[in-house]
Amino acid sequence: MSTTERPRILVVGGGYVGLYAARRILKKMRYAEATVTVVDPRSYMTYQPFLPEAAAGSISPRHVVVPLRRVLPKAEVLTGRVTTIDHDRKVATVAPLVGEAYELPFDYLVIALGAVSRTFPIPGLAENGIGMKGIEEAIGLRNHVLEQLDKADSTTDEEIRRKALTFVFIGGGFAGAETIGEVEDMARDAAKYYPTVKREDMRFVLVDAADKILPEVGPKLGEYGKKHLASRGIEIHLSTSMDSCIDGHVVLKNGLEVDSNTIVWTAGVKPNPALARFGLPLGPRGHVDTSETLQVQGTDYVWAAGDNAQVPDMVGRNAGNPNAWCPPNAQHALRQAKVLGDNVISGMRGFPQKTYSHANKGAVAGLGLHKGVAMIVMGKMKIKLKGRLAWYMHRGYHGMAMPTFNRKIRVLADWTLGMFLKREVVSLGAMENPREEFYEAAKPAPQAKKADAEKAKAS
Ligand SMILES: Cc1cc2nc3c(=O)[nH]c(=O)nc-3n(C[C@H](O)[C@H](O)[C@H](O)COP(=O)(O)OP(=O)(O)OC[C@H]3O[C@@H](n4cnc5c(N)ncnc54)[C@H](O)[C@@H]3O)c2cc1C
Repeated sequence: MSTTERPRILVVGGGYVGLYAARRILKKMRYAEATVTVVDPRSYMTYQPFLPEAAAGSISPRHVVVPLRRVLPKAEVLTGRVTTIDHDRKVATVAPLVGEAYELPFDYLVIALGAVSRTFPIPGLAENGIGMKGIEEAIGLRNHVLEQLDKADSTTDEEIRRKALTFVFIGGGFAGAETIGEVEDMARDAAKYYPTVKREDMRFVLVDAADKILPEVGPKLGEYGKKHLASRGIEIHLSTSMDSCIDGHVVLKNGLEVDSNTIVWTAGVKPNPALARFGLPLGPRGHVDTSETLQVQGTDYVWAAGDNAQVPDMVGRNAGNPNAWCPPNAQHALRQAKVLGDNVISGMRGFPQKTYSHANKGAVAGLGLHKGVAMIVMGKMKIKLKGRLAWYMHRGYHGMAMPTFNRKIRVLADWTLGMFLKREVVSLGAMENPREEFYEAAKPAPQAKKADAEKAKAS
């Protein structure tokens, strides 16, 4: 961390909003006008809409993330976590990856912590659930699913085999429907390499508390998505929830009971709980309360946007409703970040603030290779697409939205290779414990029993 005479703009969180806001500020700033500092516990931004494709192996994990130091060469990037903020002294406490926490003074503050998985105190969930918010989880899920096929193919115990081949997904929004769509496609495709595992031996179960899935694309396409997944043999249980999953024994409210080693939790998100220690006004569900200029209510030096903020929705049918907030998605996060960046510069120079308003442009969802749904809003018209065309829209949209030219090309290269080469089906589960084998080899050999040692000496 450098000491600086210039004003410091502290960006807390280097995800979608943090990355794009910092880029915008750096682009608009005059030479040496301020120091931009970005703090994030990860050294990279994750393009979350590609996590399901990374879990399916269609995109290499390294291409789904954007290294912050590389794309923000003019910013100060600190790898650590902001734990508290003292507004009277204008200092943030940063807990770095290693070593003592320290204080970081700031003049302007951007809050972009995003969201975390929204969970409930369900018995067994913390021990057995797998989340889907980071690249680590997506890759962990891929390795885990392929490892279940390895297990099923190598056992003669029918109970172990059935548990390994049952996959339960809780939550049928974007993240859940896309993830089950991609993973089911990948796993059934991989079955051809396992002599004793057939495609139909695998059981996929999708559960949602609502009476529909994919609410983001509207009721008609959501219904299509549901029928499509069901036609692939995925069991869909709606208007129900999970009561418990102790030791992988899943019990649903509707009476269904299944044993599974794989319980993926994608039942929504909630604002990052760390916000509670930031001394900022929070809304009823824990979001930072912002005005339509993205300034945090009651402040003139703090801005917030993205999944951790409640930003008034100023357009469409929500216009004029004081309790309508922009939904937590990448479409808003990206656009809010740009307005936020401009407003930070204006705030620093004493100019008026711009209002954020954005009309929904639609949504795209991939449900596996060559399968998808899309809704594109053009003025008053809504174009609804399904199947292969929607899947191309999904890839086209996200390919363009992926930050940086470098990453766009890498993702495109992965997709192109995928067209000509078969999908990789290797499970690299050992990557989670890379030192295990070396440790086994290097640890001191157990002391031979005294009697054995004497016998060996005598002979
Ligand atoms: C699986 C999945 C699929 C999705 N698909 C779509 C889609 O198809 N379309 C769409 O529009 N949206 C989609 N989304 C939602 C979209 O990705 C989010 O809305 C968007 O990432 C929000 O951006 P953000 O900057 O608010 O949060 P994030 O991008 O999550 O960034 C938050 C950052 O804050 C950092 N952080 C956390 N705690 C601290 C701390 N204490 N100090 C410092 N930094 C901290 C985190 O490490 C992270 O880098 C999807 C999300 C998921 C999980």
